[in-house]
Amino acid sequence: MITMKSIQSILRIALTFAMATVICSTPGFAQQPAASVVTAIKAGQLVDPAAGTVLKNQIILIENGKFKAIGPNVTIPAGAEVIDLSGLTVLPGLVDAHNHLALTYKVIPERNIYYMTYITESTALRAIQAASNGMQMLASGFTIVRDMGNNGNYADTALRLAIEQGWIPGPKIINSGIIIGGIGGQFWPTPEMGVNGKNITFPEYIDADTPDEIVKAVRQNELYGAKVIKICVDCKPWGYSVDDIKLVMAEAAKAGLKVEGHVQTVDGAKRAIEAGIWSIAHDSGMNDEMHKLMAKKGIWRAGTETPMTLPEHTTPERYAKTVALLRNAYENKVPLTYSTDADYYVPGKTRGEVSIEFIETWKDAKIPNVDILRAMTVNGYKCSETENTRGPIQVGLAADLIAVVGNPLDQIDALRNVKFVMKDGGVFKRDGIMTPEKFLHGGPVNGWNIR
Ligand SMILES: [Zn+2]
Repeated sequence: MITMKSIQSILRIALTFAMATVICSTPGFAQQPAASVVTAIKAGQLVDPAAGTVLKNQIILIENGKFKAIGPNVTIPAGAEVIDLSGLTVLPGLVDAHNHLALTYKVIPERNIYYMTYITESTALRAIQAASNGMQMLASGFTIVRDMGNNGNYADTALRLAIEQGWIPGPKIINSGIIIGGIGGQFWPTPEMGVNGKNITFPEYIDADTPDEIVKAVRQNELYGAKVIKICVDCKPWGYSVDDIKLVMAEAAKAGLKVEGHVQTVDGAKRAIEAGIWSIAHDSGMNDEMHKLMAKKGIWRAGTETPMTLPEHTTPERYAKTVALLRNAYENKVPLTYSTDADYYVPGKTRGEVSIEFIETWKDAKIPNVDILRAMTVNGYKCSETENTRGPIQVGLAADLIAVVGNPLDQIDALRNVKFVMKDGGVFKRDGIMTPEKFLHGGPVNGWNIR
């Protein structure tokens, strides 16, 4: 017979065990693919996007998932696994600074009413889709993805943890958890969708209208594994004030997180810029004045510039504006990231191939190849805050790199032909074929309880 007392003692034992697990487990728990042997890559050409230079015939040594040595005269140790990329151009991995891997809305029925997605697809199903989309991104050379919400009930955190624990291959995920906004988020729901007007668009948005609700929403996302905070600045006429945005930023800063604002009006952009937000998503609120202010304050622009080559997703008029604004941002020296918002399926293309298609807009905006590449690499690392741990091909950093046919500094379309991908020192793609087996294991990982 179970008495109240025995339940209490069971709970006490369980709690003690849980506490011990927290204390004993290793924080960070990054499980690298087994790489105790040294890997040596012979790079025919090695691009440094920051410097805009190409070095010939470099040797790159990798050990325990990190870069160990790089140079023309590096000795390859006996027993090292040698990977010959002498016919390819090696460069650091790419960054998509705005995507939604657990969202793939369909023309029917979600088009323009994508809250149908959370009615028809469970978070569990969307997490599996995210796993697939992550691999598709990695195969196209995207080793870092900022996953900015609309991922159901934290499918983005699940994706990040599954990749970090080594269950599946995928990019480094910088995820936002649930988007925080005033009531309604980006939707215009019916009264029937809510109970007493609370959280009517959950789990796509957290309704947070008052200062108390804003603070709690930020903490909820942090508790459930967000690594960046995403807010709707002006999805509704009531939007967030400068003080509201500053409150989000102050609360996020306590956990060391930055804030991205979804902005769709000039007025919203003004408020976000005045508050000193970290990054602004989309270009609808941009103009010459906003760009000058963003450049002055060093605010990242994640413009999500949809190309005309994805005609279902923009119009000639909208595209002309997109290109002109990207050009204007470039001329004003706004810090630019490569960002796509590619949360849809294009027949015949993987999610990675849809994302890489966005280089077309950058080409049409006449951005030099080296600066397109910088937006896709060094700027992406800075905006993701990985530049000291992951991104650049530098000794001591996580061993992520890709290799392509041709030189993207001469012809940016070379990025469409990624033949080789390494992530954390493991080979994910070789000779153009995915080799994910080294990234898969089913084992438990110490630290599972740390999000
Ligand atoms: Zn988006």
